[in-house]
Amino acid sequence: MTSFDVIISGLGPTGATLACLLGQSGLRVGVFDRMPDLYPLPRAIGLDHEAMRIVQELGLAELMGETIAPYRPSEYRGMDGELIKRLDTLPEPHLLSWSPNYVFDQPSFERILRARLEHLPQVKVFLEADVQTTGQNSQHAWADVVLKGDEAATRFEAAYIVACDGGSSPIRKRLGIELEDLDFDEHWLVVDAIVTDEKIQHLPQTQVQYCEAARPSTFVVGPGNHRRWEVMLLEGDSLSPEFPEDELWPLLERWLKPGDARLWRAAAYRFHGLVAKQWRRGRILLAGDAAHMTPPFMAQGMVSGMRDAHNLAWKLALVTKGRSRVPFGHVF
Ligand SMILES: Cc1cc2nc3c(=O)[nH]c(=O)nc-3n(C[C@H](O)[C@H](O)[C@H](O)COP(=O)(O)OP(=O)(O)OC[C@H]3O[C@@H](n4cnc5c(N)ncnc54)[C@H](O)[C@@H]3O)c2cc1C
Repeated sequence: MTSFDVIISGLGPTGATLACLLGQSGLRVGVFDRMPDLYPLPRAIGLDHEAMRIVQELGLAELMGETIAPYRPSEYRGMDGELIKRLDTLPEPHLLSWSPNYVFDQPSFERILRARLEHLPQVKVFLEADVQTTGQNSQHAWADVVLKGDEAATRFEAAYIVACDGGSSPIRKRLGIELEDLDFDEHWLVVDAIVTDEKIQHLPQTQVQYCEAARPSTFVVGPGNHRRWEVMLLEGDSLSPEFPEDELWPLLERWLKPGDARLWRAAAYRFHGLVAKQWRRGRILLAGDAAHMTPPFMAQGMVSGMRDAHNLAWKLALVTKGRSRVPFGHVF
């Protein structure tokens, strides 16, 4: 099968959500991801009510189970540990019937999305499949993809291609679409740990923002015994994505020492605020991190990618089924 209604490059949360929604609408979808499995480093931990509405629409809400947990109140603490502000969680009734915020386990959530795709026969998923080039004319678009085990690329065609290929989006770069820099550029260490039952009672019971000028940091209460630390990195700290463990423990020592927790994963990130200047070129569209990147503090990166997917899905379904028409080259 080399011809689809929609080709999606990238099976992160944006691509997976879009593939589920399009597949549910009966569209023939080809999704390609160059990795063999999920992204292994720490990323999203918070999601919101709009994301849950999309999960509900996909029929997956009941499957979320222990993947999500209520979001605890947030405390903002000053230089001497004093409470500056406390944000409590919103009481019911909830406007969208879901609580405005949850914590969740991103790998488990992505597995739920991927499992849904297995039940959508119209959606074909290709892993270890590298989208190398894309092109288009007035009739259709195409992607040349090197599939697992192949040396030469295979050409796949579709009415539309959606680039859900992440912040460094090769498709966006090949199209020459520039990013507008919103002037946020900081290096932070992110650590996920599974804390022992004994230690967990002595850690904060709320989310905490440590507003300390010398080195701000964040503590997040995740589902179960999952706890996250985000610590701003300073000049002289390692900036290597695979952050060295001997430099990591001293940064966590006010909360944890080895033996208090199993280190799950850690990474140094450069947090940006970037927006693509164009989100569509003819039959090729950008979605998720490929179109916009935000520092994670308000937990809106992945969920805004899911909103992109939701926004695009019904439009692509109408257009590809011939129920609505978009002039070629029209820019929204
Ligand atoms: C530390 C941290 C914390 C975060 N916390 C939150 C949070 O709490 N809440 C929240 O909503 N968001 C959060 N985010 C943001 C969130 O993780 C991202 O916005 C989200 O993962 C982006 O999803 P995506 O599907 O658009 O891109 P990605 O997840 O990056 O997926 C892109 C996919 O495209 C594939 N790909 C790339 N190029 C090709 C190619 N040529 N061919 C085939 N496949 C290709 C990649 O392999 C990858 O799987 C956080 C991010 C970080 C770094």
